[in-house]
Amino acid sequence: MLTLLSSKKAKHMKKIAIFPGSFDPITLGHTSIIKRAIPLFDKIIVAIGTNSSKQYMFDLQQRKNWIEQCFANEPTVKVDMYQGLTVDYCEKVQAKYILRGLRNQLDYEYEQTIAQMNRKLNDEIETVFMFTELDYATINSTTVRDIIRHGGDANQFLPKEITI
Ligand code: ADP
Repeated sequence: MLTLLSSKKAKHMKKIAIFPGSFDPITLGHTSIIKRAIPLFDKIIVAIGTNSSKQYMFDLQQRKNWIEQCFANEPTVKVDMYQGLTVDYCEKVQAKYILRGLRNQLDYEYEQTIAQMNRKLNDEIETVFMFTELDYATINSTTVRDIIRHGGDANQFLPKEITI
């Protein structure tokens, strides 16, 4: 009984974070944030948000496979996909934390609005921010896609698990 109770409590108290994004494709900026967050949470779910009105360069399964390959040796990192509101997805997977990376002032403005709106929707969920490592501050998926589209070499911005 005692064991059952304590394991139940331990389960309840697990710190689960989601790291939402498009990951089209996942870059060294994303992997750096996830790796730095591993010691902070019991589980991190890299959650690929899908929006039917958005055009992606890489299909969902491909994006998911790449992320899984990057974290194949990290048992606390999982990959999933979701549609709809991020806070609803958090509730579904019992995550109390939304992890986000901050590169610059533009990110700051955007993220502040989203985080405050999300708190209005569900005040049990905290958004946790991490500043980007200096080396990765200029990496974003949009420019990486442009480089790929125009035949440039984007490998220096991508995890070694990705071969395009
Ligand atoms: P979104 O479509 O929500 O912007 P992204 O896949 O571009 O999704 O990004 C997901 C998260 O990763 C966001 O919190 C974003 O700020 C963060 N991120 C993106 N690029 C970097 C980077 N180079 N360094 C750190 N964080 C990053």
